[in-house]
Amino acid sequence: MILPLDDMIFGIISDVCGREGVDAYVIGGYVRDMLLKRDNPGKDIDIVIIGDGVTTARAVARAVNPRIKVSVFKTFGTAMFRYNDADIEFVGARKESYNRDSRKPDVLPGTLGDDQNRRDFTVNALAISLNKATYGEMLDPFNGLDDLRAKILRTPLDPDTTFSDDPLRMLRAIRFSAQLGFTINGPTFESIKRNADRIKIVSAERISVELNKILLSPLPSKGLALLEEAQLLAIIFPELEKLKGVEEKEGKGHKDNFHHTLKVIENISARTDNLWLRWAALLHDIAKPATKKFIPGTGWSFHGHDFLGAKMVPQIFARLKLPLNEKMKYVQKLVGLHLRPIALVQEEVSDSAIRRLLFEAGEDIDDLMLLCQADITSGNRYKVKKHLENFVLVMEKMKEIEEKDAIRTFQPPVSGEEIIKVFGLKPGPVVGDIKTAIKDAILDGKIANDREEAYRFMLERGKELGLKPV
Ligand code: ATP
Ligand code: MG
Repeated sequence: MILPLDDMIFGIISDVCGREGVDAYVIGGYVRDMLLKRDNPGKDIDIVIIGDGVTTARAVARAVNPRIKVSVFKTFGTAMFRYNDADIEFVGARKESYNRDSRKPDVLPGTLGDDQNRRDFTVNALAISLNKATYGEMLDPFNGLDDLRAKILRTPLDPDTTFSDDPLRMLRAIRFSAQLGFTINGPTFESIKRNADRIKIVSAERISVELNKILLSPLPSKGLALLEEAQLLAIIFPELEKLKGVEEKEGKGHKDNFHHTLKVIENISARTDNLWLRWAALLHDIAKPATKKFIPGTGWSFHGHDFLGAKMVPQIFARLKLPLNEKMKYVQKLVGLHLRPIALVQEEVSDSAIRRLLFEAGEDIDDLMLLCQADITSGNRYKVKKHLENFVLVMEKMKEIEEKDAIRTFQPPVSGEEIIKVFGLKPGPVVGDIKTAIKDAILDGKIANDREEAYRFMLERGKELGLKPV
């Protein structure tokens, strides 16, 4: 099989390697995705060199443009440079031998065959020759092409060896399954179950890369269900595993919160590619097991799971080595607020309740509403329809209030410095007290979100506190 390699870079690599007398092949994800016709412009390209990857990378880079910067990763014996929108990565073909107790293999230079043996799946071991005599020829020692056509993930070697050598490959199998819609073949999946415990030696950073890719895939709920089935979830994400199961008392059950969560992720993923909103969906009910109570005569309660869930977010992010920045705060905020819009639907809605939610959610109100809509997973179609209709009413009301009062981007109409100046105060709790009183008056609809009204209100409030303007 001869494949067209359209990009100019392949011709350049072929010329340089011909001159230098080393063999080169395109391998891995690029080949797989080219054959699958996945549309991902700027796709990274992996080149395996039968020889020294770093030296070759430098020679190719010089031929492309002498000013290109080559990044060298000494520990891995790899080097890469940026070309158009892609990272071109060079690695010397290698043979790896693993010791069961260590994560770090002994690495020796090897043949193309050795290098293909250490790849994770047959569809990722496909290589295309860049050598003059065989340019474009496919090298497929494990019938990866057949697996690609049949959409099957299978390891090139005995799966127990492949997974034990680098247990992250188990997560990669599930990630590719969710990303590409492939099936993990029977013996391969059985081996994942057998080796699941080995995932413990893999760093949190590498695990999170795969978790994020699963969440961003077209089928995150499939990936999560596979993680659970493979018994990996209990190790890497025990909080999610605990959502599983149904308890019954006095003839009253509750829903299986794991399956509910998967459904919510499926719903939200149909509406957004925002990774962090998908994370919020994953974690929205995370505190249900910890807050679960049976109230005789009434049934199951998960009171406070929104509040406790928000508290759990930083711990979970820290353990998984996810960023502890504004992304985490965003997830935390959505988890903490996820019941609020539903409460607005059920109650007789006051403008002030809507203003308060707009204030607390701020710019993230639309994402919160998406999460809440995704959270409606009842099997009863009539109920779902009714809930969604009620949501539309709440959203209309929000829009109306927002147009009038602009609460989303609320900025205090009178600043702390101004309060200090007007009453000749020192910075202290009284200033905060007046500021909060102004904010509450606006949210409660006593005064408009307007500077003049707020200023007048400040003077009144100051008077009540025995203050006089200076
Ligand atoms: P994507 O880039 O979409 O994540 P990919 O298959 O290109 O998918 P990379 O991590 O870029 O994945 O790796 C490139 C290639 O290197 C893979 O196709 C595979 O051949 C090999 N590879 C990567 N990680 C591993 C691993 N942990 N074990 C074995 N082979 C691996
Ligand atoms: Mg890649």
